[in-house]
Amino acid sequence: MKDAEYDVVIAGGGIAGLTAGLTSARAGRKTRVLTGASLGGHLVSIERIDGYPGFPDGIPGYDLCPIIQEQGVGAGAEFAASEATALHADGGRWRVTTGQGDIWARALVIATGTTLKTLGVPGEEQLRGKGVSHCASCDAPLLRGRIVGVVGGGDSALQEALTLAPHAARVIIVHRGTAFSAQSAYVQQVQQNPKIEVRFRTIVEEAIGNGGLKSVRTRTIGDGKTGDLEVSGLFVYVGLAPATPWLGELLTLDSSGRIPVDGALRTNLPGLFAAGTVRSGSAGRAASAAGDGAAAALSVDRYLTDGT
Ligand SMILES: Cc1cc2nc3c(=O)[nH]c(=O)nc-3n(C[C@H](O)[C@H](O)[C@H](O)COP(=O)(O)OP(=O)(O)OC[C@H]3O[C@@H](n4cnc5c(N)ncnc54)[C@H](O)[C@@H]3O)c2cc1C
Repeated sequence: MKDAEYDVVIAGGGIAGLTAGLTSARAGRKTRVLTGASLGGHLVSIERIDGYPGFPDGIPGYDLCPIIQEQGVGAGAEFAASEATALHADGGRWRVTTGQGDIWARALVIATGTTLKTLGVPGEEQLRGKGVSHCASCDAPLLRGRIVGVVGGGDSALQEALTLAPHAARVIIVHRGTAFSAQSAYVQQVQQNPKIEVRFRTIVEEAIGNGGLKSVRTRTIGDGKTGDLEVSGLFVYVGLAPATPWLGELLTLDSSGRIPVDGALRTNLPGLFAAGTVRSGSAGRAASAAGDGAAAALSVDRYLTDGT
């Protein structure tokens, strides 16, 4: 097999892709994992992964993910910090275009996960990295003693508000709905935390500041009242967009933009599998994404052995 030819290429370096790489290499397959920009995906910036088996007190994602990568390297998987930018069927194989040239695979696991959605309001992009952020654990120590805002009402928003609370003077959660959609454990902790304040039925309309975030303009749904909240940090968790645009028209996606698969994580194209939060019906948790990675790699191994 030539240098640029692999049994299996895995697109994605989140917990699904890392686990697929490890499992595929352990099965003796020549495996390359393209991690994209972020080795560890969302988990790498999470202070405490909750609900992951074996870690009753949680574990930081930046500790767990490099261990899985090391395990994969030990098993023989190759890792590259490059992105897959296109995928083409090529004479019974898959040709993957990457930032470092083309590579070929007999089978491919798509594990490119999701990206956090933005608010799309004025000032957000200009103030990104200057107060507007998606990473509570990275920025919390820099905002010690300050007032910060969190936008959203799901698991990620509440979990990250709880990460910020020990550092910040006050955390204000701004949510457009009338109730949270997060797990009840997070809702209870937020309700019991005296440092966290909640504003329901409120939307952020603008991030304001010159060189650094100073405040956000909010509007209350219903009466339309606007006001300015003075915050030094704004953390945005308003949903996830599947990272599938790089696939072009290759696959028909579901209505959320995710990849439909069967029980063995096969797409409708031979030799093409999908794992983790990029696939339809994912449970959206770290444990399920890791399980998907392992299951997809074993399905690939069977496919390479007997074509099923
Ligand atoms: C704020 C927050 C807190 C969370 N907390 C928890 C928790 O406590 N417990 C829990 O169980 N779950 C938690 N989750 C959910 C968990 O993060 C996801 O279930 C998990 O990260 C999904 O893993 P994944 O590998 O499918 O995708 P991702 O983590 O999204 O990883 C995607 C990977 O693909 C790469 N990539 C993207 N495009 C390309 C491309 N074109 N080519 C190559 N690589 C590419 C990225 O660089 C990244 O490495 C949380 C999520 C968020 C956002």
